[in-house]
Amino acid sequence: MACIFCEIAEGRRPSRTIHADDQLVAFHDIRPQAPVHVLVIPRRHVTSLLELGPGDDGLVGAMVRKARDLARELSLGDRGFRLVMNCGDDAGYSVYHIHLHLLGGRGLRWPPG
Ligand code: AMP
Ligand code: ZN
Repeated sequence: MACIFCEIAEGRRPSRTIHADDQLVAFHDIRPQAPVHVLVIPRRHVTSLLELGPGDDGLVGAMVRKARDLARELSLGDRGFRLVMNCGDDAGYSVYHIHLHLLGGRGLRWPPG
């Protein structure tokens, strides 16, 4: 089945990529919800948070640390930022390849909408 984030990870679909390594790719969201809105994805296709197993702990940790590093690089370290992973219809999950949203550059309300 076609997956747009696999296509981005494999360079078959254009994206504004800001990081790529053996395990992860990060790129700007096509419909940004904040001045900074970056997605961090694993190269490996994982359909949703529901599919993660104990062997994926390192992968998830790497996603979080990479998003944190990118937040610092994008000058959000001092003012703050938010990391979000959606899952399922109630959360508005729309691309079925796990991704970590990095949001920042404006005041972010809580609770989220
Ligand atoms: P979610 O609602 O957590 O599934 O978020 C999916 C995100 O992917 C949304 O914020 C979309 O704007 C974003 N998105 C969808 N297609 C692309 C694309 N081709 N390039 C970058 N971001 C995308
Ligand atoms: Zn995929």
